[in-house]
Amino acid sequence: MKLQDLNIVVIGAGIGGLAAGALLARKGALVTVLEAQDYPGGCAATFSRNGYRFDAGATIGCGFHAGAPMETLGKELGIIWPILPEPVAWQYRHQVLHLDLSPQRLEILERFPRSAPFWAEQAALAKLLWYFAEGGLSWPVMGARDLVRLARKGIAGLTGTIHLLPFARKTTLEWLASHGLDTDPDFVRFIDAQLLISVQTTSPYANAINAAIALDLPVAGAYHVNGGIGTVSRLLAGSIEESGGAVLYQKQVIRIDSVRRQVVGLETSDGSALAADYVLANLTPDSLDLFIESEGEAPVEKKVGSLWSAFTLYLGMESALFSSLSSRHLQIIGGSGELAEGNSIFVSVSSDEESDCAPEGLCAVTVSTHTRPEPWFEAKKRGEAAYLELKNAYTERVINVLSEQFPGAHPAIRSITSATPVTWERYTGRNQGCVGGYPQTSLFKVSGPLTRFDNLFFVGDSIFPGQSLPGVVTGARRTIELLLKRNAKVGLQQP
Ligand SMILES: Cc1cc2nc3c(=O)[nH]c(=O)nc-3n(C[C@H](O)[C@H](O)[C@H](O)COP(=O)(O)OP(=O)(O)OC[C@H]3O[C@@H](n4cnc5c(N)ncnc54)[C@H](O)[C@@H]3O)c2cc1C
Repeated sequence: MKLQDLNIVVIGAGIGGLAAGALLARKGALVTVLEAQDYPGGCAATFSRNGYRFDAGATIGCGFHAGAPMETLGKELGIIWPILPEPVAWQYRHQVLHLDLSPQRLEILERFPRSAPFWAEQAALAKLLWYFAEGGLSWPVMGARDLVRLARKGIAGLTGTIHLLPFARKTTLEWLASHGLDTDPDFVRFIDAQLLISVQTTSPYANAINAAIALDLPVAGAYHVNGGIGTVSRLLAGSIEESGGAVLYQKQVIRIDSVRRQVVGLETSDGSALAADYVLANLTPDSLDLFIESEGEAPVEKKVGSLWSAFTLYLGMESALFSSLSSRHLQIIGGSGELAEGNSIFVSVSSDEESDCAPEGLCAVTVSTHTRPEPWFEAKKRGEAAYLELKNAYTERVINVLSEQFPGAHPAIRSITSATPVTWERYTGRNQGCVGGYPQTSLFKVSGPLTRFDNLFFVGDSIFPGQSLPGVVTGARRTIELLLKRNAKVGLQQP
């Protein structure tokens, strides 16, 4: 079928679903996005509560620098992103160690001078990886054409490719060891903290190539998005509508009907039924399995494995507490030095320049920490009292870690809203509230967009290259590429 004749339904208005939808709509396809909530963005949404405006999950705009995925997407769709560069991406704090993560890495090099050769190698690797990412990544490889494309790029950048190969199977800790840095606990903790918030795992497990690109973020540049990070999804939704498509809210898909390898229809919770030539699922694979109705197939068991969820606090606070910060974003490691489960937190304070974030003299603060989902669902099963007890314990732990660096934090809090994995599951539709993407432990065990259905593809941070705004946009391009390839093949097979 010609692209202009294609009826494409996207389940979910997260950044991945919207980016794919906007690009396909721009090419002429008829795109309908079905979103369960009444606003777009999912993990990268902005919401208002009690006079405050909070970013729900993602708070840092990344991938907007020249040639990067968000910049390219904006150019292609005619969107001018309302962004401002952040001079310091975020500040890392552990006890008295305070490091600004700026493009020059001056403070890091000053505190850890022996790490200079490691950073030089990381910069070279990241440059090479950005080169490979240009124009999309044909990974995981799905046929001869992908192999040829990869080989062409590999041969064009031959010296770099040879340099890259040994890192493909290395863990980050092995890479640190090759520079004699694995025995410096402060440096390893610092790197682990960076990796946990980006590649969702720490140096003993994180693949070195994934780490090289993740550690490049403060150098490539972090951006403030005016109106909150949710502006990105609102602009993408607007682009779909301008191209003749539709983004429909409060349309939760509850059932997908299929016959053999074809999805034949979708049903939403308000009773609407839709047909589609192709479906893009902005969902995790196990979330999708929960509402697939296939002829003769048993429902798939819920599985979570090693995925993280988040515990998030949305605090209304007195802005005077944060008056002299070098960055509005802080990564704070508590005194124990442990990571995740409330022991390490990421804090984003609203900008004074945006008066609609909070009432006069106050600010909106999003604080998040990694947490495993299972104990939350077990507590919920035990009853409301057990669940509340766990929620209160995490709230206290998180505020105590914040207070280690900002001793006046407790009395400066005016309002508290929290989100647990149970909330994240309800809000994003992700099974067990598993947000933040998959742990990037191996380049060879990643998932691509293909599913067991010929006309249904994944999009979003559960497919390669994974989490973050630029990550899901890069993944969305791969989804589109495979959809168009499949459509061309179907066209050839038709009489
Ligand atoms: C706490 C936290 C902090 C983060 N910080 C950053 C950051 O600073 N910078 C950054 O770049 N990235 C960050 N990330 C990662 C980034 O937010 C995500 O990788 C990205 O936004 C995921 O987008 P997605 O397209 O995969 O879908 P999601 O955001 O999961 O969106 C999926 C959408 O589908 C909808 N949906 C689900 N089920 C259905 C259904 N059945 N019917 C209809 N609609 C449905 C949901 O309501 C949702 O809107 C962070 C993530 C978290 C959780």
